[in-house]
Amino acid sequence: MDIEVLTIGTELLLGFTLDTNAQVIGQTLSAVGVRIVRRTTVDDDPRRIREALERALAQTGAVLTTGGLGPTNDDITKSVVADLLECPLEFSSAVWNQIVSRFAQFGRTPSPTNRCQAEVPRGATVLPNPRGTAPGLWMEGPPGLIILLPGVPREMAGLLRDEVVPRLKRRSGETPILSLTVRTTGIPESRLAERVAGVEEQLPPLTLAYLPSLLGVDLRVTARALPEVDARRTLERAAALLESCVGHHAYGRDQDDLAAKVLATFAQSGRTLAVAESCTGGGLGWRLTEIAGASTVFLGGVVAYHNKAKSTLLDVPPSALETHGAVSSQVAEGMAIGVKNRFDSDVGLAITGVAGPSGGSPDRPVGTVWFAVANDDGVTSQVVQLAGNRHEIRIRSSQFALHLLLDSL
Ligand code: AMP
Ligand code: MG
Repeated sequence: MDIEVLTIGTELLLGFTLDTNAQVIGQTLSAVGVRIVRRTTVDDDPRRIREALERALAQTGAVLTTGGLGPTNDDITKSVVADLLECPLEFSSAVWNQIVSRFAQFGRTPSPTNRCQAEVPRGATVLPNPRGTAPGLWMEGPPGLIILLPGVPREMAGLLRDEVVPRLKRRSGETPILSLTVRTTGIPESRLAERVAGVEEQLPPLTLAYLPSLLGVDLRVTARALPEVDARRTLERAAALLESCVGHHAYGRDQDDLAAKVLATFAQSGRTLAVAESCTGGGLGWRLTEIAGASTVFLGGVVAYHNKAKSTLLDVPPSALETHGAVSSQVAEGMAIGVKNRFDSDVGLAITGVAGPSGGSPDRPVGTVWFAVANDDGVTSQVVQLAGNRHEIRIRSSQFALHLLLDSL
C-alpha cells in the first residue's frame, strides 16, 4: 500500500529540530512493504496542515502525521483533522484516566491544559501511548486513512512499532522491502567499488547502495518484491560475498559499532586496553565507554593534549618532543608505551595529529595523524592523512584507531 508522511512543527522548518521522525517512519514502513510516496513538512498553521492533509488524501488516500498533539496552543493537528472530517472532538474519560494515572506515576496531577489531550474525534480509534500523555489516533473514513502520532520521537517510534505497523500489515499484506548493510571502514568509496565490481553483477534482483559517512562506507543491499524468506536468504548470501571482497575493512552489519566489535574481540582473548589521546581529546574513550560493559576491557585513558602532559603523564621524553615534534612516530610510540605502562594494560594505543584548522606545516599538513599500538611484543606506529575539517578529522581519527586495534589482534 502507498502512504504519505506529514511531519508537523514550526521548529522542523526553522531547522531547530531535525526531522528524525521522518527517518524512523521511512525505515520502519519500508521494512514492512508500505511505500512512502511523498513526504511533507508544514509549520503549526491550521490552514497549511489542512491543505497538506487534503492533498495527501486526494492523491494517495492514506497519510501518517507526527506532531501537534501536545497540550499547548500550537498543538492543533487534532482539531484540524476533526474539522476536515467533520467529526467533532469528544472528551474521552478512558483517555483522561490514562493521563491521570500517568501523571500519578510521577507524583503529579494533570493541569486543565492537559484535558484537551483527552479529546478524541468522534469515531477515531485511540492508540494507547504508554510513553507519554498524547495517544495516537487512527481514523478511517471516506476520504481515506489518517494516522496521527505525537511528535516526541520516543513516543512516536513506540506507537509506530506497537500500534501502527501491526494494523498496516493486516491491511496491506504486501512483500516487505528488506535491506542488509555491510559496514566498512578505512577504504575509500572508489576503491571499495573496484573490489566489489565483480560481485555487483551477481547481485540482481538486489540493489546495492554505497553510503559514505565519517565512520566509513556502508554497503547496503536491498531486496524488493521478493517473498520474505527468499529475500532474507538472498541478502545474507550477498552480504557474505561483499564481506569476502572487502576483507578486513568489513567490520560488522547493520547498526554494528566498531567500538563494540573491538571490545568484544579484546574480551574474547582476555586482553585489556588503555588509550592516550592528543588530537581526539577523549573522543576514543567516549566511543569505547558508550558500550555497556566496557570496563572489562577498557581500563582508562589519558587526554594528553599539551606537550607537558605527554611527558609528565605518559613519560614521553621531552627530547623526543623537541626533536621530532608532537605529531611524530616517536611521540606516538612513546605515548602508547607510556599509557600501557601507566595502566598496566595488555595494549596501549596512542593518537597524535594535526586537527586544524591551524597548526599545519608543509611536511605535516592539517589531517596528518600518527597512531601507535604498544603490546608485549613491542610498539608499531603509522601515519595517515585524513580529510575534512577539525570535527571530521577527530571523528575519523577515533574510527581509524579502533580499526587499528581490531587489526592488531
Ligand atoms: P509536538 O508533538 O508537536 O508537541 O512535539 C513534541 C516534541 O517532539 C518537540 O520537542 C518537537 O520538537 C519534537 N518533534 C516534533 N516533530 C518531530 C520530528 N518530526 N522529528 C523529531 N522531533 C520532533
Ligand atoms: Mg509541535
